[in-house]
Amino acid sequence: MKQIYLDHAATTPMRPEVLQAMLPFLQAQFGNPSSIYQTGREAQTAMDGARDKVAKLIGASAREVVFTAGGSEADNLAIKGVASALRSKGNHIITSAIEHHAVYYTCKYLEKHGFRITVLPVDAHGLVDPAAVASALTSDTILVTIMHANNEIGTIQPIAEIGRILQERSILFHTDAVQTVGHIPVDVDQLGVDLLSLSAHKFYGPKGVGALYVRRGTRLDPLIHGGGQEANRRAGTENVAGIAGLAVALELAVAEMDVMAAQQQRLRDKLIDGVLQTISHTRLNGHPEKRLPGNVNLCFEFIEGESLLLNLDMQGIAASSGSACTSGSLEPSHVLLALGLPHEIAHGSLRLTLGRDTSPADIDVVLDVLPGIVDKLRRMSPLYDADTAVSKARL
Ligand SMILES: *Cc1c(COP(=O)(O)O)cnc(C)c1O
Repeated sequence: MKQIYLDHAATTPMRPEVLQAMLPFLQAQFGNPSSIYQTGREAQTAMDGARDKVAKLIGASAREVVFTAGGSEADNLAIKGVASALRSKGNHIITSAIEHHAVYYTCKYLEKHGFRITVLPVDAHGLVDPAAVASALTSDTILVTIMHANNEIGTIQPIAEIGRILQERSILFHTDAVQTVGHIPVDVDQLGVDLLSLSAHKFYGPKGVGALYVRRGTRLDPLIHGGGQEANRRAGTENVAGIAGLAVALELAVAEMDVMAAQQQRLRDKLIDGVLQTISHTRLNGHPEKRLPGNVNLCFEFIEGESLLLNLDMQGIAASSGSACTSGSLEPSHVLLALGLPHEIAHGSLRLTLGRDTSPADIDVVLDVLPGIVDKLRRMSPLYDADTAVSKARL
């Protein structure tokens, strides 16, 4: 059975060109970039080239790019690094209700350590209101962190608009752009951000490597102390191969961005329209237009996301759901709950995220098998009356 991978928001397969770019630094050119002999210098040169490339592709300069071990570390470094450096200035941080756990739990951690966190609500489509950001600011506010696009529902935030408000007030602005870099245009000046997180494995690069953009002059304490690597912002011998792979992956992703976005958006809309037309009691989560080109997130009433995933897996389709099974009780995603969805509906969510290899035939297969799976599960559901197609529970 052909496997159909529709979980590109979780991770993407590495491109062959990326692997080729990495191999030399895992073998012959294995030197430590801090060493002065030839193989060390070669590693340093490769890293300098990668840094230049990444900087250029996001509208930054090389000295503003700090390589990290991925998106989660970049988010932690941005938020804890600013909180620590600006503690004497204030203790208030503003975020949104739909952030990735790497931001959400970092803010929770800081709350336990004396910071005041304001969590802004989102509207039914998952959008943060820029005016709400402005009215949440106080004289103690040191940082605002709001993601560029959401990993579950794909909603793209008005980051540039929020950036303009914060620049006027000289308040630091971080955005988690892990879902957007390499997929839609990202330029740090156009967005008006001071800090921006990205991660290679979300754009066909290797896992375990990412970067934090840090605008020149931004005060930031390191998370990892030790050597003076990354201009004293992140100690530790650099992941040279990973960094080389990240840069090539980003270069390739940006070069084909327009074509890929158009292609995925067409397939995305075909999938959304097809499902909504053929399966009743179904809704689209996230914004109808301001959404990532490859993101589909749906709720099917009366059934659970987990059972949907298992049945899709049996048909060779890899997808994801917002709910995670913890100790027998299903806790729906904080993102879907923030949209105002009731628990029982949020349980029936399905995320399908398309990638550069997703074909029209893949979408046809999903449209072919999904109605049968949903129907089967609904017939098994105690909440569903097949004859009347109404819920027995009050939803
Ligand atoms: C995947 C993801 C992360 C985490 O990145 P890692 O490199 O896996 O640590 C953070 N934020 C968002 C929005 C993501 O999608």
